[in-house]
Amino acid sequence: MAKENDAVGNGALHYTGSGLDRVGHLRRDDSWLATKKGSGQTRVLPVWRSRNLVGGIDAEGRVTGDAPALVALDINECWSLAGEQGELVLLGEKDETVWFALDISHLEDPLSAYELKDRGEFVDLRLVGAVMNRAAGAAMAFARGILTWHRRHRFCGFCGSPTESTDAGHVRVCQNSECATQHFPRTDPAVIMLVHKGDKCLLGRTGRLPPGMHSTLAGFVEPGETLEEAVAREVLEETNIVVRDPVYRGSQPWPFPANIMVGFFAEATTEEITVDTNELEDARWYTRDELLNSPEDESFRMPRRDSIARHLIDGWLAGDAG
Ligand SMILES: [Zn+2]
Repeated sequence: MAKENDAVGNGALHYTGSGLDRVGHLRRDDSWLATKKGSGQTRVLPVWRSRNLVGGIDAEGRVTGDAPALVALDINECWSLAGEQGELVLLGEKDETVWFALDISHLEDPLSAYELKDRGEFVDLRLVGAVMNRAAGAAMAFARGILTWHRRHRFCGFCGSPTESTDAGHVRVCQNSECATQHFPRTDPAVIMLVHKGDKCLLGRTGRLPPGMHSTLAGFVEPGETLEEAVAREVLEETNIVVRDPVYRGSQPWPFPANIMVGFFAEATTEEITVDTNELEDARWYTRDELLNSPEDESFRMPRRDSIARHLIDGWLAGDAG
């Protein structure tokens, strides 16, 4: 992989680099919001039950054109789709166009709606993310992530009362006046690490991965723990390998549903693997040659091209881990 660097230091990682200015200072500016909601230039990304609307594919997610494409609606197409509960969530501004997201999950059959006929298919973004324009994928991931958060936080976690959206969809406030807790969109960090030792790196697989796919180890960060401590703990728990001095490599939003993957290189100081079979089906050391000559079949295949796991492996193969 070419060594590219962008403003966030993530090279060409998918679901990054939307280019949207999130205009946090305008989220409470009602007159600005009203103007933009009335503008023919404004664009809206619809999301249906955590699926994004994608053009250029068929119902199975197969590409029918040059590449899968973002489908944005004109604001005037949204009002009938929105329903009574419908609410536009502000994503941001790019090239003087303001972008919103709209949840249309209340519709039973969204593609039968006049406004959405022949526009595309509602699919899990991960089906097509690796082969679509990176900025478009990033904006769609943002839309999916924040709308999924809204759907899952309709009630206050403290007192159980209903919550309502404010700040153009970036806060939910408990409607019980004695509680009035503000709830903010969640992003839960998970660490993901390429463990290496000399000419070998450590990959494993869980039953959740497609047949043959092996990946870097990963796990959730726990309360009261640094990212580096989480790296060392997860590697030890899953494989009994000890690592030292994890080095931060980059991060990738993974709003499927609400994570950010924080990527590290970590050098192992031990070699003997004991797999925790509650966590992994298998884990072992792989040489550079094995990875460079991956058969990409059910015996062994690399992680998906849109994943930070693949980015870490490619970086290690290129000598970036030192
Ligand atoms: Zn409450």
